[in-house]
Amino acid sequence: MTEDHKGKQEETGKKPSLNFIESMIERDLKNQLHGDKVLTRFPPEPNGYLHIGHAKAISLNFGLAQKYNGNCNLRFDDTNPVTEEDEYVQSIKEDINWLGFKWANEFFASDYFDQLYAWAVKLVEMGKAYVDDQSAEKISETRGTPTRPGIESPHRTRSVEENLRLLEGMKNGEFNDGEKVLRAKIDMASPNMHLRDPAMYRIKKAPHHRTGNKWCIYPMYDFAHGQSDFIEGITHSLCTLEFEVHRPLYDWFLDQILEDKNAYRPRQTEFARLNINYTIMSKRKLLELVEEEHVTGWDDPRMPTISGMRRRGYTPLSIRNFAEKVGIAKRNNIIDVALLEHSVREDLNKISQRVFAVLDPLKVILTNYPENKEEEMMAVNNPEDENAGKRPVMFSRELYIEQEDFMENPPKKFFRLAPGGVVRLKYGYIIQCNEVVKDQSGNIKELHCEYFPESRSGSDTSGIKVKGTIHWLSAKHAVPAELRMYDRLFSDEDPSGHKDKDYREFLNPDSLIINEKAFVESSLRNAKPLDHFQFERKGYFSADHDTSSDKPVFNLTVTLRDSWAKISG
Ligand code: ATP
Ligand code: MG
Repeated sequence: MTEDHKGKQEETGKKPSLNFIESMIERDLKNQLHGDKVLTRFPPEPNGYLHIGHAKAISLNFGLAQKYNGNCNLRFDDTNPVTEEDEYVQSIKEDINWLGFKWANEFFASDYFDQLYAWAVKLVEMGKAYVDDQSAEKISETRGTPTRPGIESPHRTRSVEENLRLLEGMKNGEFNDGEKVLRAKIDMASPNMHLRDPAMYRIKKAPHHRTGNKWCIYPMYDFAHGQSDFIEGITHSLCTLEFEVHRPLYDWFLDQILEDKNAYRPRQTEFARLNINYTIMSKRKLLELVEEEHVTGWDDPRMPTISGMRRRGYTPLSIRNFAEKVGIAKRNNIIDVALLEHSVREDLNKISQRVFAVLDPLKVILTNYPENKEEEMMAVNNPEDENAGKRPVMFSRELYIEQEDFMENPPKKFFRLAPGGVVRLKYGYIIQCNEVVKDQSGNIKELHCEYFPESRSGSDTSGIKVKGTIHWLSAKHAVPAELRMYDRLFSDEDPSGHKDKDYREFLNPDSLIINEKAFVESSLRNAKPLDHFQFERKGYFSADHDTSSDKPVFNLTVTLRDSWAKISG
C-alpha cells in the first residue's frame, strides 16, 4: 500500500476496495480452498531481460503473497533451449531483487523434465496422446479454422505400443527436429483451437542451459505450465489475458494426470497485460533493437527494460508505485507513459539531492567582484527533506549561467536577465547586466555584470526588488560533464500497431543527444553510478556507470515538467 492509500483509508475509515484477484483470494481463504495457504509464482522465460510489463506481473504476484502472508516462487519457464541463456537467468534475478522482492523458492521448469516425461508416457498409455509424423506446416494446415473443424492426422489411431516406442525413440534422439511430435488426443472439431490435438513435446537437438544434452525433446508451454504449478503447490496461477483460451487445456492436462478429482489443483486466472503508449514490450522486438544496435544494449536507458530504467535513474519504488496506480484489470487498455514519468518524479522529488548544473553555458563576468576572491554559498540539499542539510557552492568573479536565462531583446514577462536588468543568483547575489560583449560575427560572447555586495542571500539589505532567480556555477570551479539527454525511443504512440509499417520506422532519431558543453558542481566528481540528482530548474539526472571523477557522466532520468499532473490535476 502506498502512503497515499493509507492516508485515504485513515480518513474514511474504509478499506480500499479489492481488485478481482484479491476478491477471489479472499473468497478462497474464507472457503479454505487451500487452507490458509497462498502461493503464487512469477514464471519468466529466460529469453530476454525483464521489462516494465514484467514489473507489473512481479508486483502483482509478490504483492499478493505479501498481502496474504503467503509466498511467491520464481520459476524459470525454460522449455525452449534455442532462445534461453544463463545471462538472462542472472539478469532476471538481479532485477527482481532490485525491485525489492524476495522469492520463496527458485525453480526451473527443467527441474521437472523427468516428471513431465513420465506424465507424457502416462497419457500415451491412457490413449490420450500420440506421436504424429506430419510436418509442422501440415499440422497447422489441417488444424482448420474457428468455424471449420480440423482434419484428423492419419497417425492419430496408432497403437499405444507403437506410440510408446516412437516417443521413446524421440527421447533417445532417433529422429531429427520436426520429424515427429507428440500430440494430445483431444478433439479436432473443438471450437477452441487450442484443444485440436495440441503439441505436447517437440524435438529440438540443442543444448539446454541447464540440462545440457540430456534431452532432445522439450515440453510445450501448455504441457509444462499447469503441471509445474501443480508440482510446486501453487494456489493461484496468474497470467495475462491471451492465455484465457489456453485455460481449458491447462485444466485438461491436470484432469488426465490427477487421479483424485477432489484433490488440490492449481487454477489459472487471467489479468490484462500492461501496455504503455510510445513503448514496445515484446521481448522479440527488444532483442532486435539490441542486436541491430538501435540501442547500446538491454540496459540502454531508453529501453523499457528494468535494467534500462535502473540505469536511467528510475527507482524501484517509483516502478512499484506505478504498477499499483495502474491496478489490475480484466480488459486490455493502454496506459499513458506520462503516468510512469509522474511516478518517477514523485519519488525523485523526495529523495534527490539538488545540485547546480549549467547545460548551455554563457559566461558572466562580475566586473566589480575582486579577482581572487572566492566565497562559499550555502545551498539547500533537498527542500523536501529537512535532514538533508546544506552544502557549500563556490562563488567567484567569473560565472556560467544558462544561455536561455539571458535575452538581449526580452518580451514583457521575461523575468530573467536582460541588458540593464537585474536577477538573483540563487543562494548568491543580485546582479545587473551592464554590457553584452559580442564576437566578430555578432554572437554573444559574455556578459559584463555588476553584483550588489549587500544583496547576499540570507542577509540581503540591498532593498533591490528582483522578479527572477537563476542558477549558476563559478567558472573556475565548474567541472565539464557529459550529459546524455534522452527522449522517447519511438515517436509514435503505437509503433507496432501499424499494419503496413515496421515498428523500426518510428524510431526517434533524437532519442539520445549528447551534451558535451555542460558544467556541473565540483561535488559531482564524486557521484557514484545510479546516484540521483535534481539539476535545479533542469531535470532529474542519474550518474551513469561510465562516470568518473575526471569526466562525470549523467543520464537524464526525466525532466521537471509533469504533463501527467497537469492532466489529472
Ligand atoms: P513478451 O511478450 O514480452 O515476450 P512474455 O509473456 O513472453 O513476454 P514471459 O517471460 O513468458 O514473457 O513472462 C513472464 C510473466 O510476465 C508471465 O506471467 C507474463 O504473463 C507476464 N508478463 C509479460 N508481459 C507482461 C505485460 N506486458 N504485462 C503484464 N504481465 C506481463
Ligand atoms: Mg512467454
